Amino acid sequence: REVSELIAAGEVIDRPASVVKELLENAIDAGATNITVEIKNGGRTYMRVTDNGKGIAPDDLPTAFLRHATSKISQKDDLDSIMTLGFRGEALASICAVAKVDVLTKRKDDSYGTHYAIEGAEEKTSEQCGCPDGTTFVVRDIFYNVPARLKFLKKDSSEANHVADLVTKLTLSHPDISFKLIRDNKTELLTAGDGKIYSAVYSVYGREFANSLIEVDYTWQGIHVHGHAVKPLEAKLNRKFQNFFVNGRFVKSKACAAALEEAYRNNIMVGKFPACVLYIDVPPNTVDVNVHPTKIEVRFSDEKLMHEAVYFAVKNALMERDA
Ligand code: ADP
Ligand code: MG
Repeated sequence: REVSELIAAGEVIDRPASVVKELLENAIDAGATNITVEIKNGGRTYMRVTDNGKGIAPDDLPTAFLRHATSKISQKDDLDSIMTLGFRGEALASICAVAKVDVLTKRKDDSYGTHYAIEGAEEKTSEQCGCPDGTTFVVRDIFYNVPARLKFLKKDSSEANHVADLVTKLTLSHPDISFKLIRDNKTELLTAGDGKIYSAVYSVYGREFANSLIEVDYTWQGIHVHGHAVKPLEAKLNRKFQNFFVNGRFVKSKACAAALEEAYRNNIMVGKFPACVLYIDVPPNTVDVNVHPTKIEVRFSDEKLMHEAVYFAVKNALMERDA
């Protein structure tokens, strides 16, 4: 393997959670309504993502693992308008460069599925097999060939928490998909996938949280903010419970977080943070999505306007509740 290839791979894939993220985004792109994520030992030795999406044609399997073979970007301008989650066409190439990958996949109308195995980017197996409709990726021994990277992984429990956080975010941004997370043979999360935000929130954060939701629905200068805010509960919340999804994607935004906390200012006790699951829809060309695949920070072309939108939306909801 070329060193440059491994470095490139390392930019996309820096820990088990980034593998899971790419596999989940692909499953979502494939139209799955049912997705299972299983990890063992923090994902270090074993990660599995199974979906019931459209599957991959046998002939397309080898190319799926080639860098940029599937890139949907032709010009820089396209970035603004790309609506599917995957657009770089290098996730699978990066994953197979640093791990051992098995794929089982079948399209609904095919009578057979395919088992494809690739290790260090080298094809090991390609054979017909029986399997359910959809796709299963199994990724083993991440960084088995990049000891320097392996050394940088945190404890298994902490790597597993990264995966769990990620699944949580995707659960909340896709209430129409049923997610299951299995961690070291134990089911940690199972969501209904009934399209209701409430039930997704319930599965992820529990009853107390779900029952104290305040509905938010507000439009400010072309920015639509909807979803729920939550007053601080007995249980100590931290900023991890502040979820902002901009145009369907989980993001970190200083403007949004500050606006939320400001709206709650007179409502919260010192040391407690309000929580939220807020969906913000804006014209795509006003978001500067950080192009780096592992980053989730965004900036808006008008940060002040975004701050206002979130502030007014939450403040308004709080006032309506108190009225
Ligand atoms: P990208 O998602 O940017 O196109 P990837 O390397 O993530 O690039 O995936 C390569 C291709 O493999 C995808 O474009 C898609 O055609 C196919 N693919 C990957 N995962 C799945 C899946 N779970 N179901 C169906 N097709 C998939
Ligand atoms: Mg992808």
